[in-house]
Amino acid sequence: MVDASECGVRVMCRFRPLNQAEVQRGDQYIPKFKGDDTVLITAKPYVFDRVLPPNTTQGQVYDQCAKQIVKDVLGGYNGTIFAYGQTSSGKTHTMEGKLHDPQLMGIIPRIAHDIFDHIYSMDENLEFHIKVSYFEIYLDKIRDLLDGESRPSPQCVRGCTERFVSSPEEVMDVIDEGKSNRHVAVTNMNEHSSRSHSIFLINIKQENIETEKKLSGKLYLVDLAGSEKVSKTGAEGAVLDEAKNINKSLSALGNVISALAEGTKTHVPYRDSKMTRILQDSLGGNCRTTIIICCSPSVYNEAETKSTLMFGQRYL
Ligand code: ADP
Ligand code: MG
Repeated sequence: MVDASECGVRVMCRFRPLNQAEVQRGDQYIPKFKGDDTVLITAKPYVFDRVLPPNTTQGQVYDQCAKQIVKDVLGGYNGTIFAYGQTSSGKTHTMEGKLHDPQLMGIIPRIAHDIFDHIYSMDENLEFHIKVSYFEIYLDKIRDLLDGESRPSPQCVRGCTERFVSSPEEVMDVIDEGKSNRHVAVTNMNEHSSRSHSIFLINIKQENIETEKKLSGKLYLVDLAGSEKVSKTGAEGAVLDEAKNINKSLSALGNVISALAEGTKTHVPYRDSKMTRILQDSLGGNCRTTIIICCSPSVYNEAETKSTLMFGQRYL
């Protein structure tokens, strides 16, 4: 058993630029950045491992937030990268971005390129097997995004489709396939993605065919459901159930990460939600965890931004 305190939790904070609608409305731009780890909102400082202001490029975000974890996973560790924030704060832009655009691609496509660059640079005695899965968690149920037949929802990740991939292009094809299945299954994609967690899993197995030494690592890449509070007035029935479920799963995640960050080995409440149960072997123990807190800079979102920033503060 590995000591929980060895399990580093890194918390990064990224602000997107004001969008066109916010600029047109004349919204005030509220964050003030200090050094490379502090952001002030109405003079109150929030400190993270690193703060990434709006002019940070996708490449810089990758270098700061993901590059090291990818190295560790290639070295046989497990890892998880989360994007947390309210709807339209930049989570999907950060995790996926524009998949086929070298400048604007996000973390997942960059990871795909990095992994295969690594493989091509290694000596021939090493054999790599890379498998990916792509699924979402909605109302505590897994939906396999690579299962075009929509069979009954798998009970665990092992029940999800796994695809062997042998190039970055094949990884992008799998993501495109999963995204189109997801679109087919729902009427309003924006609404749906704000209420479900989407998870891309990369499994890396390597074997030295001379020494027969084996290594394996897996990396979960999680685009979380929107963290905004759904107003209690007005919401009822299915919408209220959804909102309660999201709040519950995000707070279960928060509690697990807090327990890990404190290094209290006594009780980590993994069993409190589907997502934390799934991620159990990549959170704690033999693992690396990074949370990217995503924020809007507009005064219009000030209350949500503060509560998002507070979520990230718990682990430092
Ligand atoms: P979320 O997934 O959190 O709901 P998105 O990633 O979809 O939010 O971002 C909302 C919109 O803002 C998208 O059109 C996206 O392209 C844009 N956006 C987000 N972050 C940035 C950024 N850092 N730079 C430029 N545009 C961004
Ligand atoms: Mg999104």
